[in-house]
Amino acid sequence: MMRTHYCGSLNESFIDQTVTLCGWVHRRRDHGGVVFLDMRDRDGLVQVVVDPDTPEAFALADKSRSEYVLKITGRVRQRYAGTENPNMPSGMIEVLGKEIEVLNTSETPPFPLNDEFVNVGEEIRLKYRFLDMRRPEMLQRMRFRSQVTSKIRTYLDRHGFLDVETPVLTRATPEGARDYLVPSRTQQGSFFALPQSPQLFKQLLMVSGFDRYYQIAKCFRDEDLRADRQPEFTQIDIETSFMSDEDIMNIAEGMAVELFDDLLNVKFDKFPRMTYAEAMRRFASDKPDLRIPLELIDVADVLKDAAFKVFAGPANDPKGRVVALRVPNGNDISRGKIDEYTKFVGIYGAKGLAYIKVNDISKINNGVDKESGLQSPIIKNISDEMLQTIIDRTGAQNGDLIFFGADKAKVVNDAMGALRVKLGHDLNLLTCEWAPLWVVDFPMFEETDNGQWTSVHHPFTMPHGTVEDLKNNPAQATSVAYDMVLNGTEIGGGSLRIYNPDMQKAVFEALGIGEEEAQEKFSFLLDALKFGAPPHGGLAFGLDRLVMLMTGATSIRDVIAFPKTKTAECLMTQAPAPVEGKQLRELGIRLREKVGE
Ligand code: ASP
Repeated sequence: MMRTHYCGSLNESFIDQTVTLCGWVHRRRDHGGVVFLDMRDRDGLVQVVVDPDTPEAFALADKSRSEYVLKITGRVRQRYAGTENPNMPSGMIEVLGKEIEVLNTSETPPFPLNDEFVNVGEEIRLKYRFLDMRRPEMLQRMRFRSQVTSKIRTYLDRHGFLDVETPVLTRATPEGARDYLVPSRTQQGSFFALPQSPQLFKQLLMVSGFDRYYQIAKCFRDEDLRADRQPEFTQIDIETSFMSDEDIMNIAEGMAVELFDDLLNVKFDKFPRMTYAEAMRRFASDKPDLRIPLELIDVADVLKDAAFKVFAGPANDPKGRVVALRVPNGNDISRGKIDEYTKFVGIYGAKGLAYIKVNDISKINNGVDKESGLQSPIIKNISDEMLQTIIDRTGAQNGDLIFFGADKAKVVNDAMGALRVKLGHDLNLLTCEWAPLWVVDFPMFEETDNGQWTSVHHPFTMPHGTVEDLKNNPAQATSVAYDMVLNGTEIGGGSLRIYNPDMQKAVFEALGIGEEEAQEKFSFLLDALKFGAPPHGGLAFGLDRLVMLMTGATSIRDVIAFPKTKTAECLMTQAPAPVEGKQLRELGIRLREKVGE
């Protein structure tokens, strides 16, 4: 080995020892005839001093520039009083460099990697990702990620889980996204799909009797990317046999509890469980951020006969929803701010944002000047009685503000759910740092825009009730599915699975997957279910998101070594890239001319 110690590992306990370090020049300064080199490696920084007493080393130090790779041998010594740096773990000491070997030089990096780093824009960081990751901040995150996976493996190994790899070249697995396809050379015209998740394989492993499986698995989904999505991402994928949904949640919760305790010293109580229906009703979200103490209150029943049609319309529409959102002390939210919030809910399709400022409740019922008690453009068309009921139901106090959402339920949920979160942050209402919970009993199906049913989770999820219940009333069916939610982000989700072929067929039918299509795509699964499939279930965690939350990063790209952009490109390798005609011919593929060429 070239080195004896990592730079960042040195401290006062090494004083007077001779050490050899290998690393990069983080910063170089001349000071009164001596050269200071802050040397950096994976473990951190240490200050090296080189003085002219050792002319050879001095000359090399003098010549070195940022990001040169040096091997330095020297003696650890206490820093002079007053020159210690308490912000650096090695800040009480320095290394008096005696011998220097320049292992490699470096061009000036496209952006500084030391304290002079300013965010140069993600594009350039991604293009030079190998340099970006030299920055201590990035390195810390990647190190943390490695600790997370290591802890998870230890936890799952301890609980008897077997790590099994499943294929990456496979058939489409319906998780609801578009597939990445790989053309087959040996069977021209046929394609592999990259797995959207190992879902079916892990179920088959249960049929094989493996009992407890896990895998830290790459998954691929060709979706239009949002801030927290990547075309390839990592799941901690888990499946078990002979366990109830409660058992599975407990074992997964235990893993999360241990992770947060071990790595962040955060202690969680038992996670609350909330049904999907309750989460939607109170927070208009299936992943409610429980750090925010605001809640939605349904008021459609109160406003059915209101003269204000914007409310009465949705209040009388079976697919409509009308809610009130009380903001304590919101009375001083300015007109300008309210306009901003109106624009904000517009993003989610809301046509406006009605509000009432509550000045003096006692003035509502005297019939004369309710408008001095409540300040709002809409109250003229709402009766005193209705207003009073709304005040009572929301618990509004003088000084509060009430926002309203009234539209199709989906629009109201999207808009008011997002507004609730935005208000929580804008008004600094967060009551704690971490708020985990389980959301359970999701609907089995949801209606797509073209009126068909699709699975809320995936088609292998077990419904509550019997095959008959499902057939008679698919719209009302709920599933034995559970999501782990943390601070308003879904970090994991899963379900008990169907292990009875008749139920599986009934679900396919409800989804409009006919017998023939089911046979063509899933005959292996339907076969497996006939040969003694055990009751089974599992879940998967999104590793990237989990690490993002735990490190406080704002994008999952910041916790992935080599991520792709929003347009699913790698700026560093420039993948995807065109291929040679010969390769295409071997695959039996001819490209169509691009439109306009
Ligand atoms: N395969 C599911 C997913 O990727 C997770 C599960 O049901 O275990 O979301």
